[in-house]
Parts: sequence; structure tokens; C-alpha cells
Amino acid sequence: MQGIYIHIPFCKQACTYCDFHFSTLLKNKTEVVDAICKEIELRKGYLETKNINSIYFGGGTPSLLDKNELGRIFEALRKYFTWDKSAEITLECNPDDLSSEKLDELKAFGINRLSIGLQSFNDEELKWMNRAHNAKESEACIKLAQDKGFGNITIDLMYGSKFQSLESWEKTLLKALSLNVQHISSYNLTVENKTALGISVAKGLEPNVDDEKSSQQFLLMAELLEKNGFVHYEISNFGKPDFFAVHNSNYWKGAKYIGIGPSAHSYNGKERQWNIANNSSYAKAISYNLPYFEIETLTPDNRYNEYILTGLRTIWGCDLNFIEENFGRSFAEHFEKKIKNYLPEFVTENNSVYVLTKKGRLFADKIAGELFV
Ligand code: SF4
Repeated sequence: MQGIYIHIPFCKQACTYCDFHFSTLLKNKTEVVDAICKEIELRKGYLETKNINSIYFGGGTPSLLDKNELGRIFEALRKYFTWDKSAEITLECNPDDLSSEKLDELKAFGINRLSIGLQSFNDEELKWMNRAHNAKESEACIKLAQDKGFGNITIDLMYGSKFQSLESWEKTLLKALSLNVQHISSYNLTVENKTALGISVAKGLEPNVDDEKSSQQFLLMAELLEKNGFVHYEISNFGKPDFFAVHNSNYWKGAKYIGIGPSAHSYNGKERQWNIANNSSYAKAISYNLPYFEIETLTPDNRYNEYILTGLRTIWGCDLNFIEENFGRSFAEHFEKKIKNYLPEFVTENNSVYVLTKKGRLFADKIAGELFV
């Protein structure tokens, strides 16, 4: 199991809360796509084999790529990698880009999973987020994509904003359920310092996120989605059986992946590396054969901590035997001693596999922090 992530670092406009790497200056899109195609060639030997089971176009807004740009990236991928029909090929998109023609193009390229950034069904909230679409467009694009035969659609929703009461969040979730999508990713609004929202909060112009309200919204979401056939398989992710995200599950299970494009991260089991998070510096470095990434060799401590952080967030949990086999007896002893403090209220144990309870999910990062070495 190994995959390729391709970061498309362009957006029409900046959402107020977003701290991903992107630029709203689209003028060097061709230059960056050229560099992405060249990087695919440069990285052809990074994984153990050429066969992959997932390709994920993330961003930024990959649906801003035109037919020619996407075609060039696929051409480079096909030259150096192989995948079969069962591979998951996801493209993140925004509702305002999903015209009938666009959806036909995506389908023709073999994209079989759409990740649509809806965020909210409330126009006032979407405006506050500075999203480029409205609620009507969100609903319409999902129906259109389904009519075009996309049978694996995930949507992003955000909770925790000042606009949301428990009642309005429930309405949003019911609306999402009525659209018959296969997967929902839902994140608590996080106020990041350098974003427009972060600056407004620091100046006292906007309220910070109310953690108590967010916790209630999280619990309501888990209950409602599980009642409607979704499996809560990762803290922020819910999927119908057979529709868990292959690409993200690979990350959570420690599989190897290549990250292509500005700011993208890669992992080969021993090292992590991350590309320059600046579009023109990345493109120049690639075209002049200059260094375009930094690299870190992971220590056993790093690898153990990552296993705990990601594993604990999933329904697959953390396996004591795996820890002993992969990191050694002392790590297993440390883990066992610490995790016992959380039984049975926050963590359950079955055959030496430890999984968070519903209540424990609210404190996943805190519990993981206690288990770190
Ligand atoms: S569209 Fe996505 S990546 Fe772009 S600014 Fe908004 S949240 Fe960030």
C-alpha cells in the first residue's frame, strides 16, 4: 500500500481561517505544473515499487487545474508509476468549479473520488469564511456529480464557528445526510495566528472558538452519523462501509507515500521530507536542479510517537504487540503503563489493542501526548 499526493497550491480567494499553503496569484500556474511534472520524474525511485494504490490531488484547489494541466500531470504519472482500476484517485474540488463539462473531464481522467469542500450550508457563514460558493451551488454540484456517475463522494464540513448553535449544526448534518454521500470529513474550526481570522480574534474583533460548544457539536455529529450508517473510523472522518478513504487510511497506518508539489510531505518509512512552501522558489529550484526539500531522519522515538498520534485517532487503535515488535520492549512497557490510566472510561482494550471510547475521542491529542516518549 503506497500512494502519491500532489499539492496544487492555488485558490481563487483566501478563506479567512485557512493556513494551508496556497496562492491566489494564478499567473505562474503553468510554471508550477511544469515543475510538478518534472518532480514526478525525479521522484520515480522514492518508493520500493512503482505500483501505487492511491493518488490524491489536494491543495489549494486542484479543481482549478484545466484539462491540459491535469492531462500533463496524469501523463507524467503514467510514465513512471502503475496502478490498477481499484486504485483510489481523489481530487479535492470546490463547488463553484464543478460544471457539467468539468465533471466529464475529471471522469475521463479516471478520477473516481471527489472530495468537495462544502464547509457549510449557511450562506451567511460561507460569506464570513470568504468561500467562493454558496449553499445552493453545493447541493447542485453534488447532484450533478452523482448524475455523472460519481459514486464515491466525500464532503468537508466545519463546526465550531460563531454562527453555529447545536440546532443549526444538526440541520447542517441532516442536510448532508440527505445528499447521500459516501463519506464525510468534519473539522472543528481552528484559529491559526497568521490567518485573517486569527488576526481578527487577536484584535478582539471576532470571538475565539468555544471549546465546550465544539465538544457538544462533535458528540452530536458522531451520534447522528453513526445512526445513519456511517462508521466513525477516524476522529474527523466518517465513511459508509467500503468507503473509508484509502489514501488517508494509508497515512494513518504508516504506509509510504510521495508528496509532490510545493509544501508537500513525503515518507519512506525512515525519513520524512517536505518541499519548499513557496510556489516560485519551488518551481525555480526544480527547473535549475537545486535542492527543493528538507529532510529529517526519524528516530525510534519519532516513529513511536507518530504511531501513537495517528493510531489512537482511528478505530484500529494502538496495538501493544506491534509496539513491542517494531520499537522494542521498553516502548511497550512505557505504553502499557501509561494507557492503563485511561481504562475503561477513555480507552477500551481487546487482545492488546487499545482504542479510544466515544468520550476518549474528545481528548485524543491530550491522551496521545501522555503516551509519548
Ligand atoms: S479553498 Fe481550501 S485551500 Fe483554498 S483558501 Fe479555502 S480552505 Fe484554504
